[in-house]
Amino acid sequence: MVVPYKHEPFTDFTVEENRQQMLEALKKVEADLGKEYPLVIGGERITTDDKIVSVNPANREEVIGYVSKANKELAEKAMQTADKTFETWRKSDPKLRADILFRAAAIVRRRKHEFTAHLVKEGGKPWKEADADTAEAIDFMEYYGRQMLELKDGVKINSRPIEFNQYNYIPLGVGVVISPWNFLFAIMAGTTVAAMVTGNTVLLKPASATPVIAYKLMEVLEEAGLPAGVINFIPGPGSEVGDYLVDHPRTRFVSFTGSRDVGTRIFERAAKVQDGQKWLKRTIIEMGGKDTIVVDKEADLELAAQSIVQSAFGFSGQKCSACSRAVIHQDVYDEVKDRVASLTKELSAGDPYDNSHFMGPVIDQGAYDKILDYIEIGKKEGELLVGGTGDDSKGWFVNPTVFADLKPNARIMQEEIFGPVVGLTKAKDFDEAIEIANNTDYGLTGAVITNNREHQEQARQDFHVGNLYFNRGCTAAIVGYQPFGGFNMSGTDSKAGGPDYLIHHMQGKTTSEMF
Ligand code: GLU
Repeated sequence: MVVPYKHEPFTDFTVEENRQQMLEALKKVEADLGKEYPLVIGGERITTDDKIVSVNPANREEVIGYVSKANKELAEKAMQTADKTFETWRKSDPKLRADILFRAAAIVRRRKHEFTAHLVKEGGKPWKEADADTAEAIDFMEYYGRQMLELKDGVKINSRPIEFNQYNYIPLGVGVVISPWNFLFAIMAGTTVAAMVTGNTVLLKPASATPVIAYKLMEVLEEAGLPAGVINFIPGPGSEVGDYLVDHPRTRFVSFTGSRDVGTRIFERAAKVQDGQKWLKRTIIEMGGKDTIVVDKEADLELAAQSIVQSAFGFSGQKCSACSRAVIHQDVYDEVKDRVASLTKELSAGDPYDNSHFMGPVIDQGAYDKILDYIEIGKKEGELLVGGTGDDSKGWFVNPTVFADLKPNARIMQEEIFGPVVGLTKAKDFDEAIEIANNTDYGLTGAVITNNREHQEQARQDFHVGNLYFNRGCTAAIVGYQPFGGFNMSGTDSKAGGPDYLIHHMQGKTTSEMF
């Protein structure tokens, strides 16, 4: 009997013992820096000359690892392996598949700080954020393992006398999993294991900025008993490996988390039926957000300011759930604005190594340049209240930035920046606040800070986002507690960490027998 699911607790790093353990883990991880990592196809380690160089975004001179890069030929080899392995894996016992995840979760839990330390280095994550990322990776394994046990016998349907009808979920086939760098462990692991535990075989192409953690997951899963060929590790460029596999006629589904541009490109390409293709590909796509916190006039204004600042600047705003807009009732606008400014001034960005900064770096030069370009746009569109500067001499650091007095349709209020930038705007009443909150292409997360129950219920009906929070920030969904995924251009609303997530990776089969 499997114990009921409970989310993995977070580590309190103000406890000296935890802090010391984390410093030791960082030393251990440092000893491993600069190693080479191969591809894994059918269990075989393959080394290529061409390498992805993963660097520490807080210090670009520090190489995390050199990871072999797949190309079309190797992608094809991986596809053939996954396709062949599917013939046996699809018949594997769902309990065995779940047990692999429970064991893998236990392995990660035992080495928790080591993984967290790795995320500090490869992802540039502050300790708290890295710890939450590791915890979420564990949660996905524990939760999806249990979900599979619930689904393994299908769903009860009706039968007439002398008839026995059954409804079962069967796997789809080969899935291509393309994972992001922001939740380099959690989302990479979650999307991969969801595809695997449902009986599919997987081609895992992790984000090129953070491939080493994906290799480490492969090692954990192998240690937990995953047979060769079920998950194949093929990092490589999206333009070559990604497109090739998305287009491939043997690809049955694509699970993607990342930018809107890439997500819509995958959606379009996957829709095209290729020669020899026998199905319509399924896509599970999670893209961006332009997430809003609405502050009502009857509200705890300190809570409002804290929620805005935490949700905007946690992990430097590099979450698709991050608060990038706050819509504040005109009667309390000045007060909230001043408090947001003063709370933001207390924050700094710096190397996350010793846990002395609230924020770390942004992921790479491209992200840094894009964010600073948006800051220039923001200066023309509104009042720069705090921040607006960066430093890319060693790593890619952008200071927390607040713009005030923006028009709701300003670019800063409409386009996803994916950095530590938040825009404030004023609404004349609650109706207008909800209208502004909804005026983007996205619909991922949102929060309403209010003590007015009627307004809360109005938002519940009209604020069109996949994850709506009341009197708290709009980030930090927990697996199994707040299933996560958005509406409109935020994606296919396949709620990760939710009760129906696994079903997206399966198809229902009806069998009917006459006696
Ligand atoms: N699930 C995360 C949260 O609730 C965000 C995931 C993402 O950024 O892709 O903050």
